[in-house]
Amino acid sequence: MSTYMARPPARELFVKSIESLSPHMKRVVLTGESLSDFPPDQASAYIKLIFDNPAMPGKPLRRSYTVVSSDQRARHLTIDFAVHPDACDQGPAARWLEDARIGDPISVSGPGPTKLVDLDADWFVLVGDLTALPAIRANIEILPAHAEGYVILEIPHQDDQQSLLLEASLIPKGMELIWVINPHPGQQKELLKETLANLPHFPGDPYLWAASELNAVLEIRNWVNEESLAPRSSRYISSYWQLGLPDEAHKIQKKERLSE
Ligand SMILES: Cc1cc2nc3c(=O)[nH]c(=O)nc-3n(C[C@H](O)[C@H](O)[C@H](O)COP(=O)(O)OP(=O)(O)OC[C@H]3O[C@@H](n4cnc5c(N)ncnc54)[C@H](O)[C@@H]3O)c2cc1C
Repeated sequence: MSTYMARPPARELFVKSIESLSPHMKRVVLTGESLSDFPPDQASAYIKLIFDNPAMPGKPLRRSYTVVSSDQRARHLTIDFAVHPDACDQGPAARWLEDARIGDPISVSGPGPTKLVDLDADWFVLVGDLTALPAIRANIEILPAHAEGYVILEIPHQDDQQSLLLEASLIPKGMELIWVINPHPGQQKELLKETLANLPHFPGDPYLWAASELNAVLEIRNWVNEESLAPRSSRYISSYWQLGLPDEAHKIQKKERLSE
């Protein structure tokens, strides 16, 4: 029997609305009849946006984004895009976002699996930059009211706090929220790790969730290993992009350097 599985067809969607959540975060709601069978409860899962590849027609470019929310009945899929402040070499997703208007078409595949913490952990650490904020928000929303730990978020400007503070009331009181301002994302790779390394630990075993630029995430991964903070079964550590490289090249680096 053949094990070949055809890739499910992409959904052809349209921009329903675009809204600025903060200076470097835009929320886009997509709509289309093909969302009628989009599975429910997918916050934190990724979808792929599919773009034409002018250099290699027939080999489209795919970029990963996190499901903020989806509504099968209303045919809505919501995505939050980080706006890159140092955008001199924009990729297809950033270019699409810059020009996006209501009614524009976009092809979307997925969703992939959700990326949620294990709620059996004794305490929680959620770390990331703006690209991880949608998934971190989804994780905050499932934490029990008595959860303890830290949320460490790197943002380009203090006004970007708005993009999470919309839901600040959802953050359990025992989860300390720490903002790290970095006007040049991808530079100062040690910022998130150093913030984390200076925090006291809670009793018991944590679940560590971290996603950001590859070099920043490697700093965190190496530190977590040195400290034996969270075994592989109690962590999600992933890079979501890499400074100076398009996603195709980032993926190769991620495989070589992060999964070693
Ligand atoms: C599982 C997963 C979920 C993700 N979810 C989200 C999400 O919900 N929201 C979101 O905004 N991003 C998310 N990302 C990150 C997003 O896929 C990347 O930022 C992607 O590279 C953007 O594609 P692009 O076409 O704009 O740039 P690319 O063509 O990949 O790169 C072009 C240039 O832009 C730079 N660049 C790419 N991303 C950034 C950035 N964030 N800041 C500064 N410079 C950048 C690159 O270094 C490169 O120099 C996710 C990634 C993964 C793997």
